[in-house]
Amino acid sequence: MNTYFRLFLVTTLSLWWAVHTHASSPESQPAVEQRLVDHIDRQQPVALDLLVRSVNTNSGTMNLAGVREVGDLFSEAFAQLGFAVEWVEGASFQRAGHLVARYAGAEARRKVLLIGHLDTVFEPDSPFQRFTRIDDEHATGPGIADMKGGNVIMLQALSALRANGVLEQLDVTVVLTGDEELSGKPLALSKQALVDAARHADVALGFENGDGDYRTANVSRRGSVSWRLDVTGTPAHSSQVFREDIGSGAIYEAARIISAFHDDDALRGEEYLTFNPGRMAGGTTLRNNPVDNTTSTYGKSNVVAEFALVEGDIRALSAEQLTRSKARMQAIVAEHLPQTTAELAFDEGYPPMAPSAGNLRLLALYSQVSEDLGFGPVTAVNPLRAGAADISFAADHVDMAIDGLGMSGSEGHTVNETGYLPSLALQAKRAAVLLYRLAQE
Ligand SMILES: [Zn+2]
Repeated sequence: MNTYFRLFLVTTLSLWWAVHTHASSPESQPAVEQRLVDHIDRQQPVALDLLVRSVNTNSGTMNLAGVREVGDLFSEAFAQLGFAVEWVEGASFQRAGHLVARYAGAEARRKVLLIGHLDTVFEPDSPFQRFTRIDDEHATGPGIADMKGGNVIMLQALSALRANGVLEQLDVTVVLTGDEELSGKPLALSKQALVDAARHADVALGFENGDGDYRTANVSRRGSVSWRLDVTGTPAHSSQVFREDIGSGAIYEAARIISAFHDDDALRGEEYLTFNPGRMAGGTTLRNNPVDNTTSTYGKSNVVAEFALVEGDIRALSAEQLTRSKARMQAIVAEHLPQTTAELAFDEGYPPMAPSAGNLRLLALYSQVSEDLGFGPVTAVNPLRAGAADISFAADHVDMAIDGLGMSGSEGHTVNETGYLPSLALQAKRAAVLLYRLAQE
């Protein structure tokens, strides 16, 4: 064979090979990402329509029928994307229940959990009931940013992945709880669906509104635990207070404990830890009503108090910090004044979401997605500005978790709650591309 001819053949063959393999290989990553973005842009009218309908349906946590109705609205939308939807009944924890939607992709490479909630703080007797446009970019409405907007964002992202055939690369569980704003009790039952879904997943994404700014996300949230201090003293005429067998009485003992919490170097030295007494009462008789957070008391000014009660909370950044601080508080309580006793009890509470290495890595991935899409970097929300949320129950069971991927807005939990409408598409694009890249890793 002629050398030139051989060279010609080799060149032609390799050229054919290159063209052919290129044509049959999967589409390049940037091309897929562009199609995700385009899909979300095209779907904006649909997204806005769902937002308006869900905001205009009252779903205050205790309006069980309303929560269910908003659940049905989203349930229908997830079913249209091919998700298997299920309603988890909430009767055992006195709430409406939760919507769970699943999609097990045929070539799933990653198990993700997406978290939202259906309820709002606005019950049917609130004056705030409707979606109202303010201008091109803003609207007010009950639960618009916290977090019906976040649910819509999640749905748009999944719709884009589905329309472009890449949802098959993911195993997705969506949990939209019906009692985020006022959790059903016991928490072991009301958070069960969320914990089960988290145990199955590798990555958890929360679509809460975070601190309301799309340039930030939550890698950590402080846990919140309520406590109750019950103090008993020895009743006697006030003229006998401090006598060896009478002692100081319940009110002095309660005051000592609370002041010692306040002044304690170890407790005050814990970064991100806060602890606060919210209600205090003392006297000869106490009638405590935890349901409406009231305590009534009777006590004459000339009697050493027999009972005192303080209720408060403590917020910590990690389980270790919480354990350490609880132990320190118990040690303070145990230094009783003469002839008094006191007991400090903590309730089950919301666990902390600690700023783990996995969470920071997920934030870095998300920030990179945002920069690549031209939306700038994303930084972590200061945990002092982030309350507890449902993701806290999931975070311990996954490798990586972030929250705050929902709709930007302001004045949540007030009748001026406002949503920033352009964030509907912006956040959906970032979530869709993040999910796609997680599946490529
Ligand atoms: Zn919320």
